Amino acid sequence: MNDSGRCPLCGSAGREEHLSGPGFVLYRCAACGMVYQDALYSAGGTYEEGYFQAGYMAAENEERLGKNAREILEALARHVDKGRLLDIGAGPGYYVKAAAGRGWDAHGVEVSRYAAKHAREALGLDVFCGTLEEAQYPDGWFDAAMMVHVVEHLPDPVGTMKELNRVMRKGGALHLSTPNITSRNARRDGASWWALKPGEHLLFFSPDTIKRLLSMTGFEVVEFDTSATVISTESLRGAGLPAGEGLRTFVNSYLKGPKEFVRRAAGRLIQGESINLIAVKK
Ligand SMILES: [Zn+2]
Repeated sequence: MNDSGRCPLCGSAGREEHLSGPGFVLYRCAACGMVYQDALYSAGGTYEEGYFQAGYMAAENEERLGKNAREILEALARHVDKGRLLDIGAGPGYYVKAAAGRGWDAHGVEVSRYAAKHAREALGLDVFCGTLEEAQYPDGWFDAAMMVHVVEHLPDPVGTMKELNRVMRKGGALHLSTPNITSRNARRDGASWWALKPGEHLLFFSPDTIKRLLSMTGFEVVEFDTSATVISTESLRGAGLPAGEGLRTFVNSYLKGPKEFVRRAAGRLIQGESINLIAVKK
């Protein structure tokens, strides 16, 4: 990907070191502020069985994933009628299944052979194994799309988002979420921030740089917040909070009440770790 030493967002060669740790260096683009890892990457190799067993498919995550899927699908339905939906980076198919169960005509793409096979064979879902570019969908095919903590893995973010724009219809709605490099925890934890994941996460967006990527590739952001919603047990441990039962209690107590208001207010206050947005195709 960035073996040319150029910014994956704007193409500029000017950069300074943002931070470094054992075996990795992150750079900040001098022109646009994008933070990125300068590393070679081959799609698919990293994401086989162990990756999904260890984290994504763990039983303790199911409740969280179900709640997250519900919120995302409700947010999309505020902007488009239920129609054909694509989950990019569908993993083992959890969100595709959730969308289908809520009345969407749901499809997915996933580079991991292991995960795509699980989605197809165990869950009976239409999940293409490969990249979005390889799937070769027709122009304007999808009414809605979702990328849940996927964009930070992309070797060519501008190319992939342009391809997504091509396969969505005008006015179609996209949910995107990604770790926030300007979050309080990212700034506090530096090289030990849980979301750095060297070799896996290649791109580290701020509210400004993710909006820039979307604007460059034909999308308009219509909803935006940096939520304090905890996205994994790792992030909780990273934040010094208990996992397991303690995690559930924490998350539930935190998100009770007028939850959307609380979540957004908290997100603004502490610069939440997850950027969550809805963008529509212009
Ligand atoms: Zn740049």
